[in-house]
Amino acid sequence: MNRMKVDLDRRHDRSYEIVIGQDALDRAGIMLTQGGWARRYFIITDSHVSALYGSRIREQFSAVDPNIGIIAFPAGEESKNIHTAIRVAEELLGLGADRESGLIALGGGVVGDLAGFVASTFMRGLPCIQIPTTLLAQVDSSIGGKTAVDLPMGKNLVGTFSQPKMVFIDLSFLETLPPREFANGLAEILKYGIIDDLSLFQELRDGAGRLQQRDMERLESVVTCSCRIKKRIVEMDENEKGVRRFLNFGHTIGHALEAVSGYAMAHGEAVSIGMAAATRLSERMNYLSGPEAESVLSLIRTLGLPHRIPQELSSDSILACLRVDKKRSGDRVNFILLKSLGVPFVNGGVPQALVAEVVEELKG
Ligand code: ADP
Ligand code: ZN
Repeated sequence: MNRMKVDLDRRHDRSYEIVIGQDALDRAGIMLTQGGWARRYFIITDSHVSALYGSRIREQFSAVDPNIGIIAFPAGEESKNIHTAIRVAEELLGLGADRESGLIALGGGVVGDLAGFVASTFMRGLPCIQIPTTLLAQVDSSIGGKTAVDLPMGKNLVGTFSQPKMVFIDLSFLETLPPREFANGLAEILKYGIIDDLSLFQELRDGAGRLQQRDMERLESVVTCSCRIKKRIVEMDENEKGVRRFLNFGHTIGHALEAVSGYAMAHGEAVSIGMAAATRLSERMNYLSGPEAESVLSLIRTLGLPHRIPQELSSDSILACLRVDKKRSGDRVNFILLKSLGVPFVNGGVPQALVAEVVEELKG
C-alpha cells in the first residue's frame, strides 16, 4: 500500500491523501470514519459499476453506515450532463442528504466528474471521496479536483475546481476492466513517462508484456508513479495556468480526433495518436532528435496503442476542429511539444502547413 499527500497550500483542509494498493478499499471504511468529513455518506456510481461492485462496496462501508445509499445512473458519457446531475441531486434529497453528508464517487471518469460536480454544488458543497475504478480515472481524472458535465456544444463546459477529501485507488478493480478501457489508461500513463519521467518510460518499455497482462505488481508501480507526477504538477499549478498545461501533451490533436470521430474514438486512443503527432511535430521543428522521436513512437507501438489516424477521418475536418480550438484560446493553437524526453514546453507557433503534413503522414 502506498500513500501520498497532495499539499495544495498550507491550509490543512485543502490537502488530501491518495491511497494506492491492491486492497486499498479494505481501509476505506476506517479511514472515512477517522477523517470525520461527514456524518453520512452516499455512493454515486453508474449502472455497470453498481452491478459489478455494488454489494461489495456496501459491505465494505457497512461499518460506516449499514444503510448506506447508492445512487446509480446509466453508464456512458451520454449521462454526463446537467440533467443527470439534477436527477442525482433530487435523489440525494429524497434519501435525506443534508449539509452534513458526503458523497463517494465510485466509477470511471464519468462518475468522478459528475459526482464531483454534484458534490461541489449540492447545498453549496459537500465533501467528496473519489474511488476511481478505471485505469484512466486512477491515474488522471480522480486527482486534481476538476469536476464537470458536458453541454451539447462540447465536453466539460460546465464545472468547478473542487478537491476531493481522499482518493482510494484499489487496483483490483482493474481485473474486470474491458481491454479498450485498459488501453485508454495506459495511454495516459505513457504520457507521464514521456513528459516527466525517463525511468517510468523505461519501466513501460521493459515491462510492457507484463503490464498488458495486468500484472498487479507492475500496475501498482506505474500507477503510483503516475499519481505522484500528477500530484506534483497539480500542487504547483492547481488551476492550470502554467505547468499543468503540460498534461495536455497529445491532447490538442487528440481532442480534434475525438470530436471528428463523433466520440466513437476513445479518449486514450485519440491521445495516443495525438502523442504520436506531437512527437513528429517536435521532431520536424527540430526540437526533438530523430532517435528520441523514434523511441516514443516505438513505445506507443510496443504498448499496443494506436498511432495512425483512421483513413475515414477527414484531414480537413481535423484541421477545422483545431481552428475552432484556436478561437477559444486567443487565436493560437497551443501544442505541447518536446525538447527531449521529459522536457515538454508550450508552443503556440506551429505552422498550420506542418500540422497538415503530419496529419497526412499519420494517415499513411
Ligand atoms: P473513463 O472516463 O475513466 O474512461 P468511464 O466512466 O467512461 O471511464 O467508464 C468507461 C466504462 O467502463 C463505463 O461503461 C463504466 O461503467 C465501465 N467501468 C468502470 N469501471 C469498471 C471496472 N472496474 N470494470 C468494468 N467496467 C468498468
Ligand atoms: Zn487525457
